[in-house]
Amino acid sequence: MEAGPALGSWLRCYRCWSTNLEVQVHYEGIHRIDSATGERAEVVDELQEAVVQCLDCMHDQPHLGFLEGRVQPIEDRWERMVAGTPWVASCEVTVEADQVESCSGPDAADHLSFAAFGDHGTREFFTHVRFHKHDEDRIVVFLLVELYARSQQEAMDTLETAAQGSLMVSSLAEESRPPAATGHDPH
Ligand SMILES: [Zn+2]
Repeated sequence: MEAGPALGSWLRCYRCWSTNLEVQVHYEGIHRIDSATGERAEVVDELQEAVVQCLDCMHDQPHLGFLEGRVQPIEDRWERMVAGTPWVASCEVTVEADQVESCSGPDAADHLSFAAFGDHGTREFFTHVRFHKHDEDRIVVFLLVELYARSQQEAMDTLETAAQGSLMVSSLAEESRPPAATGHDPH
């Protein structure tokens, strides 16, 4: 094991701190066939997607990735999420209209969240799009966002870094952390 943060500090649910986790791995691969053994040999192409989920509160764990056969912490994200508390922001993000794939239909909220906050908007933050409006070549997306951070300043910095357009935050309030999971936690 390489030097790095201790497993116990990050290998847990960021919401309830449970260590009762599972990973769903979807793998697609194209391999050459070894003509001597019939085994699959060198990779021609491969695609792997993995989602870690907590079995106690059922939330996805966007601070954990799955690489080289093991779950690993995502730098720049895990400390803030595991040690942080939830913050709820009411905000608007103004983006170019062509950044939004589609603003109607069943996936509109996802497209608007992605346009507003990129990968953070769809994978990390809990986003609720209240409405959007068109302003010439721009779209203004009004959202409620829940994210984890260790301070108000960090919450603000995280929102600003993630925003894909100009951001205006009208309120930002700290919520209480969900209760820690009890039972199997050895600590
Ligand atoms: Zn949990």
